[in-house]
Amino acid sequence: MKRILITGAAGFLGSHLCDRFISEGYYVIGMDNLITGDLKNIQHLFSHKDFEFYHHDITKFVHIPGPLDYILHFASPASPIDYLKIPIQTLKVGSLGTHNLLGLARVKKSRILIASTSEVYGDPLVHPQTEDYYGNVNTIGPRGVYDEAKRFQESITMAYHTFHNVETRIVRIFNTYGPRMRLNDGRVIPAFIGQALRGEDLTIFGDGMQTRSFCYVDDQVEGIFRLLQSDYALPVNIGNPDEITIKDFAEEIIRLTGTKQKVVYHPLPVNDPLQRQPDISRAKAILGWEPKVDRAAGMKITYDYFKSLSSEELLKEEH
Ligand code: NAD
Ligand code: UDP
Repeated sequence: MKRILITGAAGFLGSHLCDRFISEGYYVIGMDNLITGDLKNIQHLFSHKDFEFYHHDITKFVHIPGPLDYILHFASPASPIDYLKIPIQTLKVGSLGTHNLLGLARVKKSRILIASTSEVYGDPLVHPQTEDYYGNVNTIGPRGVYDEAKRFQESITMAYHTFHNVETRIVRIFNTYGPRMRLNDGRVIPAFIGQALRGEDLTIFGDGMQTRSFCYVDDQVEGIFRLLQSDYALPVNIGNPDEITIKDFAEEIIRLTGTKQKVVYHPLPVNDPLQRQPDISRAKAILGWEPKVDRAAGMKITYDYFKSLSSEELLKEEH
């Protein structure tokens, strides 16, 4: 039985990855310090014989007894309000945390896949973004703590690949959504749906002409699964190229939820990227992967998930 360590296991993507690898017959070791994650995302796995969980901060030395075939490194705050609230931890998990896991991969001779992001392209000057674009990041801007941690993460991963022959994989994840996103994590999909459910106006930042391209979580997990099985060490974009302005997206949410509320405009956060769309030619060519779930279908499932939450969760404020 193959053994896999998944960091960030109690988070949105990490928990879906735990489910996928359990269903593929792997022994899954989840690790998380719960700083932005929640045990309820993996509660259903605790009784599973092929799952175990370590409550651990990966910026501290990471030890796992026994053999380890694979590591998926997904621990990191991912939503702008999270990484702006905990900037130093964000820098540390991307740098020290990644270093610890690469060290573990080297000792255990594991293949390691690290979660990078479209944020390595910053506010991109090339559109759509191909993997060979170097990006446009403000190192000292508020988002720099996340973007530069992820850029460093890619560099140290390639260095371990080149100098220590560690088998590495790098996925550049574009905005992904689905059940188990945190309702109050500030990302646009939970923000808009939460506002609609609470009967509040939808807050558009800036003029709403900035674009994003939203990928449903099952498609993302499939891309990551295929990349891990591949022999390809350079970064691969995984995302859905279906691009939409935030303004049009707000209209879609209004139609989906039937809310009677209107949109209100707030200032655009500093360095908020104006456009984002993955070029997925590489993923198509190397992994034979492309997204299958369109936004209408994915948003319907996501909306049903948020609707099923209790009113306490809906009204819970985050501090
Ligand atoms: P999330 O916040 O739901 O999950 C991250 C998990 O990592 C949380 O459970 C958190 O508690 C854990 N964590 C953070 N610091 C830790 C530490 N020091 N030690 C142990 N655990 C720690 O976020 P997510 O959306 O699931 O993102 C997961 C990964 O995917 C992140 O690395 C993120 O950068 C990357 N990513 C996500 C998206 C997206 O659209 N969701 C886009 C690009 C990249
Ligand atoms: N956004 C918005 N209203 C909100 C939350 C976000 O208009 O209540 C915008 C945000 O400024 C950005 C886009 O939606 O342009 C996506 O934001 P998110 O935080 O989801 O992801 P990221 O900026 O990291 O792509």
